[in-house]
Amino acid sequence: MGDRARRRRLGPLAGLVVAVVVAAGCMGGGLDQGEPQQPAPRESGRSEPEARTTRADGTTSVAEFKQDFEDAVALAEKYWTAQFRASGERFRPIRRVVPYSRAGEVSCGGQALPRNNAVYCSAGDFIAYDVNWSVSAFREIGDAFLFYLLGHEYAHGVQVRLGIRYDFTIQQELQADCMAGAYLGDSVRSGALRLADGDLDEFREGLLAVGDDPDQPWFAEGAHGTAEQRSEKFFSGYENSLKACDLG
Ligand SMILES: [Zn+2]
Repeated sequence: MGDRARRRRLGPLAGLVVAVVVAAGCMGGGLDQGEPQQPAPRESGRSEPEARTTRADGTTSVAEFKQDFEDAVALAEKYWTAQFRASGERFRPIRRVVPYSRAGEVSCGGQALPRNNAVYCSAGDFIAYDVNWSVSAFREIGDAFLFYLLGHEYAHGVQVRLGIRYDFTIQQELQADCMAGAYLGDSVRSGALRLADGDLDEFREGLLAVGDDPDQPWFAEGAHGTAEQRSEKFFSGYENSLKACDLG
């Protein structure tokens, strides 16, 4: 399945985009307990969000980035709450979203989080991200991709709530890509999210660049899937909603 013809079309962006692979690398799984050792996470209760519009591009400041990230979180909470309600279930939002800027500032299940990363931590049910790294990454890649990243990490929290635990990380990761696609596609269809011109291309190009190295065995711990597999899953969810994602 390795496609040796895969190209890194983004040229100078390739390094940054590869960094996002680490972001989506998600330490969530095996960690068993813990709390973020960091004060002042944002409150989960928010006022009802207006329709979100991705910025014209080029997130320019840390404050702006944090706002965009919180918008994406609010949108995800609203989306999953509605999905669970439609099944007669009550959704418990992910407890916290914790920006950090120093290595070791936040821990997940006793393991210090390094810089240049973003994860869902199942141990404490929170998402943590290195804010400075994220800002520079998304300055280059574009802000729509931020919604993908958050959607992917958030999906891991939903998998935990649904008790979904696959044998191989690649299954867990590709399903999270599908769920991120469904969250975005459904939000666009419902009018909760407006994409700017070029955002779909941004997803397309970003996903092409975040695939695993073709030499990586699909069954490897930490495998996420090739660029083709990840794009296919994301857009399958984007176009067909959650029925494409095998949530059971
Ligand atoms: Zn993941």
